[in-house]
Amino acid sequence: MEAVEVYNHDREFKYTVNAFCGNQALSCFACSTCSVECPVNEYFGKLDPRKIVQMAAFGMDAELLTAPEIWLCLNCKKCSNVCPQNVSPSRAIMFLQNRAIERKIVGPAFPGLMADIDGFIQNIRHSLYQWLIKVKQKDEALNLKERITDKAFTDNLAKEFETDIFFKQKIPKKLADTNFSHCMVCRECTSTCVVARHIPEFDPAAFVRMHLLGMKKELAECAQVWLCIGCETCTSVCRQGVKVQELIKTLKKNTITEGGQPYSVIDDVEEIERYVHMLRSQMILQTIKENNMAESVDLVQLMKSVCDREEFSPTVEVHPGSNDA
Ligand code: SF4
Ligand code: SF4
Ligand code: SF4
Ligand code: SF4
Repeated sequence: MEAVEVYNHDREFKYTVNAFCGNQALSCFACSTCSVECPVNEYFGKLDPRKIVQMAAFGMDAELLTAPEIWLCLNCKKCSNVCPQNVSPSRAIMFLQNRAIERKIVGPAFPGLMADIDGFIQNIRHSLYQWLIKVKQKDEALNLKERITDKAFTDNLAKEFETDIFFKQKIPKKLADTNFSHCMVCRECTSTCVVARHIPEFDPAAFVRMHLLGMKKELAECAQVWLCIGCETCTSVCRQGVKVQELIKTLKKNTITEGGQPYSVIDDVEEIERYVHMLRSQMILQTIKENNMAESVDLVQLMKSVCDREEFSPTVEVHPGSNDA
């Protein structure tokens, strides 16, 4: 392994990152809890928040600002929620992204493109979980690649979400807005949720409402609970101490124990998660590789080109700032 020449790096950089992270970034003791808990790292293996924080502490700005991995972050804040030292790797990554734009390593439209990819992927997850229920009912095989590359699926993706009333049928708006018990319906949990950001029908505050109102049957049949990635941001922002993520975890179990889903659904969910994370990460890396300065991207075309590969590879070699790398 190549030794790091610490004194060749920008010594001021670490203090700048540290200040952006509430003066906690230099407290990292490299326990790796953040890396173990990061959902992107779990399913794709290329995003290591511990490594990013440590590199920032060494002042390795050039290496970090050109690392494509910083764009794989979902900004779900799970790393920050679990850090025993109150370091905020998610804020450090946000800082790096902002600085990469300032230094013109990627174009100003790049965060918007990443948000488009995230919205697209969350819609795919949403659609796949609804499809999963039908597959299980018919006892058919789960062929994700076939489903995602099916022309009817991609053609109808946007249309399905405009017309889908599954969730709205299950959660009447008036119930989501009812005041009840400790939850004061501030909706902070929903407004900070990385999934709700892209799927308005996924509403943690509404799950809390439904649970408190005893809507067990509706919740047990609700496929949307599987969209939660367990980042715990909702729980950490709730000023009323409601353990929103814990509740959703229980609701997931209830879809099996009370909603009639077989235990094997857990394996299918794992497969869907791995697949969509691979797809998302490869779409981001390919966008960086092809054009860092792109202002728009054809998402369906991008998805197809990634899916058309023999198999997803987690090792696309790219280098922002050098499109031919
Ligand atoms: S969880 Fe915190 S202390 Fe542990 S490696 Fe990550 S940033 Fe460092
Ligand atoms: S914010 Fe989420 S995706 Fe980003 S590094 Fe932290 S845990 Fe990983
Ligand atoms: S943040 Fe807490 S109080 Fe606010 S809506 Fe969510 S669960 Fe209720
Ligand atoms: S509902 Fe799930 S995905 Fe959304 S903030 Fe809570 S734990 Fe994260």
